[in-house]
Amino acid sequence: MTKSERTGMISRRNLILRAGAGMLAASIAPALLQAQAANAEPISDLTPTDITPEGALKKLMEGNQRYIEQKRTFPDQARSRIVEVAQGQHPFATILACSDSRVAPEIIFDQGLGDLFDIRVAGNFLDDVVLGNIEYATLELGVPLLVILGHERCGAVKAALDGKAVPGHISTLVAAIKPAVDTTKNQGGDAWDNAVRANVKMNVNKLQSSSPILAEAVKAGKLKLVGGRYDLDSGKVEIIA
Ligand SMILES: [Zn+2]
Repeated sequence: MTKSERTGMISRRNLILRAGAGMLAASIAPALLQAQAANAEPISDLTPTDITPEGALKKLMEGNQRYIEQKRTFPDQARSRIVEVAQGQHPFATILACSDSRVAPEIIFDQGLGDLFDIRVAGNFLDDVVLGNIEYATLELGVPLLVILGHERCGAVKAALDGKAVPGHISTLVAAIKPAVDTTKNQGGDAWDNAVRANVKMNVNKLQSSSPILAEAVKAGKLKLVGGRYDLDSGKVEIIA
């Protein structure tokens, strides 16, 4: 197995070694990662980024500001970056965004290769597969920031709001979003936007109760969790949770 193949896959043994210790803070500390049992696979190329959770949020929002002002710098997209990240990835933010084609994280945050660990699903909601992705990014890659990103006029949220029958597996999406939508029934104002915001907030709240690993990471100050709303008209990401 080549080095890059090792880097690109999860070592089940390492995951158990680290998570099983019950010490998340230790499990994502580089020095301790390197001091693991001698028979563990090399993990030095998975050393987490040293950016703080607050620094990561600042970096992300500065990129969104450049995008809004049409002053994008297109960072980390040169040939040298391709070569650099071929050796391992150290993304500084995990983004759970909608699959909507207008909400592409690298574009709206003006970031490049190896910067963002993207998870995209219509309606940006949590399920077990999404949680597995987030836990992987947090535990294995040491990503210090997680953004659950909803957006204005989300079609998946609208489908849940309308409550009409939908074909095939689309019903799975609608069912996952509906509990959040239902909490907005008596709110005044824009029902669609209320539902978008409620869906983000509910998933932010749900994350810690659904994953002891992530709750512990937040508690240890290793992971910052925020919810955002992307405005389709202005391009601005507003932190709402
Ligand atoms: Zn959407």
